[in-house]
Amino acid sequence: MTTRTGYEINKLSVRTGYFRKPSTIRQALNGKSQEEDAKGGFDMSSLAHDAQEFANRETVEGIQRHKLALLGERLAAHQNWVDHFASVGMRAQDLGSPGALRDAPTLEKADLRSRYPYPFLTVPVGRTERFCATSGTTGLPVLFGFTKQDFDVTLVRQLSRIFRTVGITPGDLAYQGYGYGLWIGGPSMDVAMKAFGVVNLPVGPGRGELMVSWLKDLGPTVTTMSPLWLMTLINLAHGSGINPKRDWKLRVGLFGGQSVSATFRNELEAQMPDGFRAHNIYGTTEAGGPVLGISCRYSHAADEMHLINDDSVLSEIVDPGTLAPAKPGDVGEIVITTLDKEASPVVRWRTRDLVRVSERPFACPCGRSGYPLVGRIIGRSDDMLKVRGVIVYPTQIEDVIAGVEGTVKEAWQIFIDRKTSVLDAIEVAIERKSNSNRSVSEIVNQVSASLNARLGLTCPVLCHEEGSLPRYEAKATRVLIRDSACSIT
Ligand SMILES: [Zn+2]
Repeated sequence: MTTRTGYEINKLSVRTGYFRKPSTIRQALNGKSQEEDAKGGFDMSSLAHDAQEFANRETVEGIQRHKLALLGERLAAHQNWVDHFASVGMRAQDLGSPGALRDAPTLEKADLRSRYPYPFLTVPVGRTERFCATSGTTGLPVLFGFTKQDFDVTLVRQLSRIFRTVGITPGDLAYQGYGYGLWIGGPSMDVAMKAFGVVNLPVGPGRGELMVSWLKDLGPTVTTMSPLWLMTLINLAHGSGINPKRDWKLRVGLFGGQSVSATFRNELEAQMPDGFRAHNIYGTTEAGGPVLGISCRYSHAADEMHLINDDSVLSEIVDPGTLAPAKPGDVGEIVITTLDKEASPVVRWRTRDLVRVSERPFACPCGRSGYPLVGRIIGRSDDMLKVRGVIVYPTQIEDVIAGVEGTVKEAWQIFIDRKTSVLDAIEVAIERKSNSNRSVSEIVNQVSASLNARLGLTCPVLCHEEGSLPRYEAKATRVLIRDSACSIT
């Protein structure tokens, strides 16, 4: 990519007319030009503070327009992007025109797969620092490149804002429980914690027995992991005579990889040391990491998250069918455009993740009013189940189960008979807590009645004893297709 000097940025902004005052751009880029950043001139001591974090919405949108124009010019130098924009009669440079993003083509999995092995890579492979990949559960993993700037500067800056939002401070000791390898979760936390000054125990997922003891003996104050795994650890601790509420020191958790209900989260927090907060964090490999959403201390209570790096990864929330923008209170799909990423940028990538836009997206008492509030991830548009005409998302079923006393919150499963989105029947499997004083039939009756009352869903509920269903260290597979020979009874 061509780096721009401060002068060129000013010239471009004047030409495109997005900023009346060129000085605003320099402020928007934290006083650094992209050239300074590329030379490694980024001052990591500024991670403790970021003026843009409390910018108003108008300023954030101004930054977005400015960066979209730069992105368009960068992409115009790459034939595969030129062809992609041409598919809807656009030029990449058109991204600099007001409102043009809405006319730009969306990016789908098929677009990436057809450009195997390095889809839309905009720098030579030799200029990348590393690659991360999506899980590849439905085919080959898709590789996303990161330049040194992407990984060591942009990602660090984005995650530092998240750390500040939840009150993580330099010197905190963190139990890093996200996975490593090609997945972005663990590596992204490593690089950001190092730069921010958080002391890292990079354990990754698993090693439950060890962690139950280390959480007591080493006393980490911060953790990053799947919320389901923490519930498993809490249960393991009780089995080893350790009381997390009394013996652990955890103060903040960044829980991602899996969206859980507020009920589940409240139950987690109740079993942890007083004041412990389980914050929802959200991101994707395509976005460049777990950098899109985070709850602050206020939105946490309302089960909402700020799209906290909207000045760096632009999010649109749209109707999945028509792509019309969702209004406050509406459910829509998150569609993202990476504004800063040098290698493997995305423009209008369809995440398939559905959220509800807050009723008041730009009014949070924390002051981060430039960064819209959305609810937690409701589900994926392609996870939707249609059961005899009733539309159901697995997370709605989780909400019901989590609200019933006596169930094991982290262990439940949906079994379906056929690999199709239109189903005649599903079966919900749950577990009864071994120390519950409620009977199996009491629990089953209440779950069945709630599924019916809240979702209009009538289906068999099978209750197993605790420990019968699979446990997941990271993202759980909630919907299992089974041989139709094992028919639902
Ligand atoms: Zn807030």
